[in-house]
Amino acid sequence: MQEGVMQQMWDTSHISGGNAAYVEELYEQFLRDPNSVSEEWRDYFEKLPQVNGGGPDVPHSTIQENFVLMARQRQTTRPIEAGTVSSDHERKQIQVLRLISAFRIRGHQQAKIDPLGCMQREQFPDLSLEYHGLSEADLDTEFQTSTIFIGKERATLREILNSMTTTYCGSIGVEYMHIVNTEERRWFQSRMESVRGKPEVGAEARQHLLERLTAAEGLEKYLGTKFPGTKRFGLEGGESLIPMLDEIIQRSGSYGAKEIVIGMAHRGRLNVLVNILGKNPSELFDEFEGKKMADTGSGDVKYHQGFSSNVMTPGGEVHLALAFNPSHLEIVSPVVEGSVRARQDRRNDEVRGQVIPLAIHGDAAFAGQGVVMETLQMSQTRAYKTGGTLHIIINNQVGFTTSKQEDARSTEYCTDVAKIVGAPILHVNGDDPEAVHFATKLALDYRMEFKRDVVIDMVCYRRRGHNEADEPSGTQPLMYQVIKTHKTTRDLYAGKLVEAGVMDAEQDKTLVDSYRNALDNGGYVVKALVKEPNKELFVDWTPYLGHEWTARHDTRVALATLQGLGQKLCKVPEGFVVQRQVSKIIDDRLKMAAGAQSINWGAAEILAYGSLIMEGHPVRITGQDVGRGTFSHRHAVLHNQKDGSTHVPLANISENQPDFQIWDSLLSEEAVLAFEYGYATTTPSALVIWEAQFGDFANGCQVVIDQFITSGEHKWGRLCGLTMLLPHGYEGQGPEHSSARLERYLQLCAEHNIQVCVPTTPAQVFHMLRRQVLRPLRKPLIAFTPKSLLRHKLAVSTLEDLAEGSFQTIIPEIDEHDSAEITRMIMCSGKVYYDLLEYKRANELKNTAIIRIEQLYPFPQDDLDELIASYPNLKDVVWCQEEPMNQGAWYCSQHHMRRALDNHTNSLRLEYAGRDASAAPACGYMSKHVEEQQKLVKDAFNV
Ligand code: AMP
Repeated sequence: MQEGVMQQMWDTSHISGGNAAYVEELYEQFLRDPNSVSEEWRDYFEKLPQVNGGGPDVPHSTIQENFVLMARQRQTTRPIEAGTVSSDHERKQIQVLRLISAFRIRGHQQAKIDPLGCMQREQFPDLSLEYHGLSEADLDTEFQTSTIFIGKERATLREILNSMTTTYCGSIGVEYMHIVNTEERRWFQSRMESVRGKPEVGAEARQHLLERLTAAEGLEKYLGTKFPGTKRFGLEGGESLIPMLDEIIQRSGSYGAKEIVIGMAHRGRLNVLVNILGKNPSELFDEFEGKKMADTGSGDVKYHQGFSSNVMTPGGEVHLALAFNPSHLEIVSPVVEGSVRARQDRRNDEVRGQVIPLAIHGDAAFAGQGVVMETLQMSQTRAYKTGGTLHIIINNQVGFTTSKQEDARSTEYCTDVAKIVGAPILHVNGDDPEAVHFATKLALDYRMEFKRDVVIDMVCYRRRGHNEADEPSGTQPLMYQVIKTHKTTRDLYAGKLVEAGVMDAEQDKTLVDSYRNALDNGGYVVKALVKEPNKELFVDWTPYLGHEWTARHDTRVALATLQGLGQKLCKVPEGFVVQRQVSKIIDDRLKMAAGAQSINWGAAEILAYGSLIMEGHPVRITGQDVGRGTFSHRHAVLHNQKDGSTHVPLANISENQPDFQIWDSLLSEEAVLAFEYGYATTTPSALVIWEAQFGDFANGCQVVIDQFITSGEHKWGRLCGLTMLLPHGYEGQGPEHSSARLERYLQLCAEHNIQVCVPTTPAQVFHMLRRQVLRPLRKPLIAFTPKSLLRHKLAVSTLEDLAEGSFQTIIPEIDEHDSAEITRMIMCSGKVYYDLLEYKRANELKNTAIIRIEQLYPFPQDDLDELIASYPNLKDVVWCQEEPMNQGAWYCSQHHMRRALDNHTNSLRLEYAGRDASAAPACGYMSKHVEEQQKLVKDAFNV
């Protein structure tokens, strides 16, 4: 009987069928302007409770969506009288919709995600019946369920409430209603609601979960007993990470993934190495015993080590690469992204399904480190997208000794930053392995479907201190009182399975014993490990191993080739309208290609890239404004003045040419440089360049320079051919746009770790860039590039200079001279050379030779010794620099110069001409700058 009445009500309801669209529109109208709807409707809408905690607006897209769905699913359409809310039941139906919506939006805040039960949750009334104008008396009333995935058209309020509570307030708290894309939100609704947030798990899968948990716990216990008190940053409390990673890898394989690149900090790393990547436990034990594992370099602690292996999945072999990681948390994430992008580019994987980035974070670091935001912000940009990253937070609810709620962050969750890119977030109770398993599937499926970032926040705890020597109860007394008596995840789950009759206690014991025995035997413990990996999944780095920086190379390009290339690079498509100044640059480049005009910096650079592409080397350049160049010299990307379309001549040299990518980066230095480091350490054949807008902006990525670029090879044996172009030069632009802080890089130089070059001519930049790829050596190149020299009348070369010669580490005096007449030598690097040259020529100072040291590291000692020895009558030798005395090359490089003087037959002293020591890199006043510059030039000549 009641059902019949209900049916009748719906059939006549003004919010059913096509009328839903009308109500939806009305509601929209109300939100825009409350006065635009009739008083009765206004009154009705105003009384609706605020789902979002009482803010002025309501996430009306949800309401809209509900109405739209109702409209779609109900076939009956009947026009309604505008201006009326017809029945009490209809009101209640809307209130039920709002209750449902509230669960979707806020359910996570009441989800049972904390295994310790210590988490303080703010209470909101939104999930109560009363808040939505409903009461217990309505519990047995049936309502439409067309907007929820409950398996039937109608259900009682009790059923709806139960369904919503189980779905959204169980062991998974899911945040997805902030996602702008409706399809994605619907996807989550359907996946969560159709199984009430907890799908059935079969006996076999449960046993597998337990086996993985046993491995996770077993390893930590074993290490704890064998090496008590030794730092290992154990996973205890977060063991569910292991079954989670196992599922990700196996499922990715089924999706057809071929590679997974993993970034993670120290916590749980050893466990991942042994139980996921298949590192031989006996190797790890050797490391615990302090044995030297690498033949070369300085090495790194065991919980920073990277690893590579192949494992078998239902979809075939999957290559796993765990990136080497420094202590600086979160910085590895953009490195991983760069490595993934490089692998995707290598595979022409434009769908980005073959290589998957997996970033494992700590809760405190994810909330605290700025590079997290930078990396997220890169995730959908053309230059940096990788088709979505799977983020996992090992959320042990404490940062070293810092408590989460009061001090570690200002946001409710440590994951809130991920909302900037609309990433869905799955908070999951780490003590519920089946929930973790489901959250993992959801996250991976979402990534594969929508190619966007997704976060799993695995809420767990840290059974011990920050490391095994730390006592945590001193700082977190209450939490650790709970932890002390809290059973392990494995034991809890084993108990559950025994209780459910999935296994008996004896079988459980066998599981524990057999893992321990495997460790005792020192064998591999990953069953899926492929012992003879498919080599095709690896890049061959052997051609780049074992070379010195003096390795032979030929950077010349035949004149005719250069001319042809120069012309090709000036071609624009039919009807493409180039802007006036750019058109002039192209005309000039055509003249340069014809040999009718000297080659300038921009043309030489472009020819270097073009010739490398012709020789089969991919080129990738990123940085702020690199397409045009900060100082408008490059114009590698042309913009059609008619329709804004772009044309990249270097990407159109020939049909099957290697990749030429040039991307203006987002305004980040740290994440972007780390990304390019990751890219370069994965692609040895390419020229990979990051250019700073101004060189000193690289101080925003000092961590990458210190922890990876200058030391990665020595710590981890990872070669890197990355090039950094850092505009540098004192032109009166003030303290922040003058110096690229040469001294910083020189101070980091040792053991031939990097190359530091200061090219001063177009031919030099041409040969330097080509040398970086053509020489088999892969060492980072830090190049200090000019600003005013880009257009300086003397800083030009000829086509022949490019066609002949090579990069000169030192450029001797260029004016004709008799070496016996030279009594004074000025040594310098960079732009100041041209100031010195002009002064010398203007004053006809024929007794002075000016030499340019174009490579400051590795220092060309032999070349300098030879050059100095060639001037028998030298009396005075000066190092001249624009930088203040405490900066530039003076302190870091003078010992090399002195060594050359010591070898001379005359007794020579090295003098200094340059700015006085200064706290700031440069002054802020043009007049002072000019005065200083003139003085240092005169000082160099001792006048
Ligand atoms: P991956 O794919 O990163 O796991 O690398 C596979 C293997 O290639 C490593 O185990 C190394 O032997 C080698 N390899 C990868 N990257 C580098 C690098 N940057 N320098 C030297 N060898 C590398």
